[in-house]
Amino acid sequence: MPLGVWLALIKQRSAIINLWCSGGWVFGAGLVLLGYRAHLPDWLTYGVANTCFFVGISLRVIALRHALHKPLYLTRIFIGVVLAALVYAYFHHVLRSEQLRYSWGSGITAVLLLCLAWLGFAIGRQEKSTSARWLASSYLVFGLVLSVRSGGVALDISQGDALNEDVLTMVIVFLGVMGAIVGNIGFMGIFLERLTRQTGQMAMAQARNEESSRLSHQIAQLDRRRSVGEIAASLAHELSQPLTNIYLITERAHLEVEKTGAQSVDKYLSDIERNTQKAVDILNRIRKFIQSKETQFERVSLNQVVKDIMDLTNDWIQKEAVDVSLHLPVQAVWVMGDPVQLSQILMNICRNAIQATQGQAYRHIDLRIWREADQAHLSISDNGMGLAPEVLAQVSTAFFSTKSDGLGVGLSISKSIATHHGGSLTISNAPQGGAEVHLILPAVV
Ligand code: ADP
Repeated sequence: MPLGVWLALIKQRSAIINLWCSGGWVFGAGLVLLGYRAHLPDWLTYGVANTCFFVGISLRVIALRHALHKPLYLTRIFIGVVLAALVYAYFHHVLRSEQLRYSWGSGITAVLLLCLAWLGFAIGRQEKSTSARWLASSYLVFGLVLSVRSGGVALDISQGDALNEDVLTMVIVFLGVMGAIVGNIGFMGIFLERLTRQTGQMAMAQARNEESSRLSHQIAQLDRRRSVGEIAASLAHELSQPLTNIYLITERAHLEVEKTGAQSVDKYLSDIERNTQKAVDILNRIRKFIQSKETQFERVSLNQVVKDIMDLTNDWIQKEAVDVSLHLPVQAVWVMGDPVQLSQILMNICRNAIQATQGQAYRHIDLRIWREADQAHLSISDNGMGLAPEVLAQVSTAFFSTKSDGLGVGLSISKSIATHHGGSLTISNAPQGGAEVHLILPAVV
């Protein structure tokens, strides 16, 4: 059986498997010696065979302790095995007491089997493993019956010979065989369950990563599109005024030319007028295009948006050593909106909050979601320097930034997304210091 286990788990090289299988082989060697007791000297069959049993089961105890990440206590176990073997030898060779020898040998084996059962149940509890519980149950029954036998022999109720043919001996032999089969299959099961769990966890982590990178890609794209949109909208707004002025000036120049009769200049003025009109038309078209962009609204859980962004920024937050406290209600808060755009708001304000805490000895961000009547609230506060009055006055204006590499569109984009969703976004200085961004959206059920 141990060879079968070893071969079945050969791909998962581990000290636990090696210890468990070696334990099985040493125990098996003890059984072989006992089986040949008619042909072998007395010291070899009793002394060495029983030491093999003690060592074999102890190796399995060490294997299961290892699986539970408990201290191995190798020296203590070694000393225990040597003492058990010495006491056994003393009963056998010095006192020559069959009764003491047998009850001692089977008593120690029973205690070790009960240890195995206890460790098996601990693994079963820790890993919710049915295989470990089977392993533990088989060793528990075997250990208990062997204790009864050992106690019986010690109290002179039952006969002290491992190979006599009474009912209890038959039961012990049967339980020994069952213990070997169920124990080994249970041990294999523990590893197969672990493998299945690991594979499942890896698949889940991969799916999460893929989802995160998809979202991050979408946000980046949206960010670029939005930034370009904001820039274009701002350009359209800023340029339409001077273009209109040029248009008006050329019209006036036309009238002047008509009065004075300089026809060649009039042709140039017509060109300027036509081109200016063309530029105004183009800008109007751009403006219309930006304003009429359709967004797909759906029912979105704000809790989920926060979780997605936390997954996405987790590595960055760890690297920057920022302590993030999440206060999410147990019942998700729902809003109608575009999940990617809402993620983009959160990404922008998280990014600002992380950057704002740079330079603080302890960096902290507090993120809360709550629902009040028919409004969904999300607030992010940080323990950064907060906003100076002159910054506060312009903070949500497009292209305003106090950062050397800042584009200054994050907050204005976030604000326009919030407005587009029928809500609002405000930034202020928090009473406890640092800045606080507050997003309010209409809540749905
Ligand atoms: P950017 O991050 O590119 O500067 P934003 O529109 O996101 O653009 O932010 C505009 C400005 O608002 C920032 O440059 C910064 O001065 C200020 N700001 C935003 N969030 C915070 C915050 N949490 N703490 C302090 N200042 C902030």
